[in-house]
Amino acid sequence: MPQQPLAQVPLDATWEWQEHGACREADTALFFHPQNERGLSRIRRDRAAKSVCARCGVRGECADYAIRAREPYGVWGGLTEEERERIYVRSALTQYGREKGAGLRAAHDAHLS
Ligand code: SF4
Repeated sequence: MPQQPLAQVPLDATWEWQEHGACREADTALFFHPQNERGLSRIRRDRAAKSVCARCGVRGECADYAIRAREPYGVWGGLTEEERERIYVRSALTQYGREKGAGLRAAHDAHLS
């Protein structure tokens, strides 16, 4: 998975959960759209990625990290970048901190997790 600029990574971020991600056995290309991918191709790829996330034991940790880190690309924790974008908009980002769990609270409040 691509790394974010350091300023985006929450100070209390941990990485052990990544060792247990179901995506470790999947094709990384499922989780990140190629440039200019649109329409049905994108929907199908996102759905395939989300189906991997649906059976992942660290989905909560992954979604929490991605939301708190403002991950701009890819499917993380079963959420597409558009879904995370909606979380940021709908939850008035500033009312959520960057501590562990804040990302999941934002996702729950936006009814997306
Ligand atoms: S939730 Fe999805 S992207 Fe996150 S670690 Fe699990 S399979 Fe990978």
